[in-house]
Amino acid sequence: CGVFGIYAPEKKDSISTISYLGLLALQHRGQESAGICVNDSGNLKNHKAMGLVSNVFNEEILNKLQGEMAIGHVRYSTSGSSMLTNAQPLLINCNKGYLSLAHNGNLINAAELRQNLESHGSIFHSTLDTEVIAHLVARSFEDNLIDALTQTLHQLKGGYSIVAMTRDNLVAARDPFGLRPLVLGRMETGYVIASETCAFDIIGAEFIREIEPGELIVIDRDGIKSHHYSSNKPYRFCVFEFIYFARPDSNIGGQNVHLARREMGRQMAREIKVEADIVVPVPDSGKSAAMGFAEESGIPYTKGILRNRYVGRTFIQPTQEIRDLKVRIKLSPIKEVIKGKRVILVDDSIVRGTTSRQIINRVREAGAKEVHIAISSPPVINPCYYGIDISNCQELIARQMDLEGICEHIGADSLNYLSIKGLLKSIKAVDYGFCTACFSGEYPVGSELVNKGVK
Ligand code: SF4
Ligand code: MG
Repeated sequence: CGVFGIYAPEKKDSISTISYLGLLALQHRGQESAGICVNDSGNLKNHKAMGLVSNVFNEEILNKLQGEMAIGHVRYSTSGSSMLTNAQPLLINCNKGYLSLAHNGNLINAAELRQNLESHGSIFHSTLDTEVIAHLVARSFEDNLIDALTQTLHQLKGGYSIVAMTRDNLVAARDPFGLRPLVLGRMETGYVIASETCAFDIIGAEFIREIEPGELIVIDRDGIKSHHYSSNKPYRFCVFEFIYFARPDSNIGGQNVHLARREMGRQMAREIKVEADIVVPVPDSGKSAAMGFAEESGIPYTKGILRNRYVGRTFIQPTQEIRDLKVRIKLSPIKEVIKGKRVILVDDSIVRGTTSRQIINRVREAGAKEVHIAISSPPVINPCYYGIDISNCQELIARQMDLEGICEHIGADSLNYLSIKGLLKSIKAVDYGFCTACFSGEYPVGSELVNKGVK
């Protein structure tokens, strides 16, 4: 998911349009639903629906959403199914006043917290982790919303970046390990919060800093207040954001994402030796790494596969059948480029093997002499419990088969992955430590729950 927040009382008329643009820039983080909640002098108005940002909003809707501050969300489901009641932001009116919430990530103790709340009479409308947070806030004995939220954060386990809004404040919080991204920026007048810096570029905001792990910030007419509700935890930022999820023009920890991916490609070319005529990226996610691989190996970078721009990220479709079909529509080899060549395909990751198997098959159909595949991340062998959609063990191909098995299954002449060490070496993010659990099995938070298979 992607989250956005803005506090800019002087931009009352354009606050929803700015939020809309911010969400457009974050669209790659989720395409199932979108929503914006504005705060008009203490009145909170919410608009959300299924679909892409550009389908959910139009001029008329945006014009009706005015206010001094706003939060927004784009969703793809990791927990909770894909339906309107699970769209965000959530807006509740509890005994402490209005609270609007939007969240990126996944709580591993959500089921436990929810059961406990239900046994005390809470009634849930959605299957969202976010609603668990809302109920905990409502039930807190603290009567101030910000204190209640802080108290709630202490009970959460997992990866989360939250933006929230009360009648008076814009609030942002990041989990104690900094698993999911969250950044703070400045407008001419006012402040913005977003999952990634690419949202700032589009609205002309200036990056100030990252929200720190375990930090909660409150923005209102008096400026920004920062509070560390949890400290002394090591940074465990999701390395998969660098590999695949984040947009290449975003910067994280001072490191540009595209440049990190290019370096992963270079590193891969140092680690493996494959004889071939052309390096072909699997678009779009394999492009940066393919560039680096070509540079370092001296094998020419060649556009050999075309991507249909009008099909979204394929993994986002919930069923396997639709996923298969979509890969076919999405990627088409250029026969004249591929015919008779020894091809190295470069992609960022193999999760289920759907993309690789299909694309290799089609590259062969197009007449390639050999098809090798180089993946700029290690094998995904463990599920993610912190908000990336690699949660089903049975679906992870590298969990079911060894390297040779996978190579045969996807129909490649050779298959190589980047090493974990090489991956981490490629990312020059300042002060960052990484979660690598889906590759290494080292879960930074809640391993007692993870080991029991609780999600
Ligand atoms: Fe990211 Fe993998 Fe850790 Fe999940 S398990 S947070 S995808 S690095
Ligand atoms: Mg891809």
